[in-house]
Amino acid sequence: MATVIKEGWNTFKSIFTGMGVTFRHLFQPAVTELYPEEKVDLPEGARAKLYVNIDDCIGCNLCARACPVNCIDIETVMATPDVDLGKTSTGNPKRFWLTRFNIDMAKCMYCDLCTYPCPTDCIYMVPEYEYSDYDRSNLVYHFSDLGPEMVAEVKEKAEKEAERKKQEREQKMKEKKAKAKSKKKPSENKKDEEES
Ligand code: SF4
Ligand code: SF4
Repeated sequence: MATVIKEGWNTFKSIFTGMGVTFRHLFQPAVTELYPEEKVDLPEGARAKLYVNIDDCIGCNLCARACPVNCIDIETVMATPDVDLGKTSTGNPKRFWLTRFNIDMAKCMYCDLCTYPCPTDCIYMVPEYEYSDYDRSNLVYHFSDLGPEMVAEVKEKAEKEAERKKQEREQKMKEKKAKAKSKKKPSENKKDEEES
């Protein structure tokens, strides 16, 4: 009988103790966040999502080379002499078209190493953390602002320019050889022809 009374008393005591704690906390400010209804403010320097201000990118590729997991994919095309791409807000001249600038955030490990070598500070982390997706391909972010037609156009122009330069070099070489040949004695030219 005494044991039953003791156990009953302990049960009531623990209920009242627990309810007392609950009652006290009813009048105190909450210490938890009601996420996702309430968004969490990330601290300064938090690594959540990469962003590229493409207007300030000079296509130097330093960020991609710094990335230990190769999740930055950049393709550049040299602008032809008739095109002035201007300068970045930091005053760096822009010489390349950025035909592709993709970052695969599904592969990214948030090490931040890509942001340090950027000469124009145009790649950086932003406090955006709600971007999970069922499809991994949606986690590849495309920062190039050139459409497919523009990409094709700049590539074609660059190829033509490269061909023009190649022909120019070949012509110069021919002229150089002809000049050197004209300075040699006829016997030396004959020897060269025999050797070739
Ligand atoms: S944060 Fe790290 S893993 Fe992610 S893109 Fe930059 S260098 Fe690569
Ligand atoms: S390091 Fe900066 S400027 Fe160079 S390609 Fe990357 S984002 Fe662009």
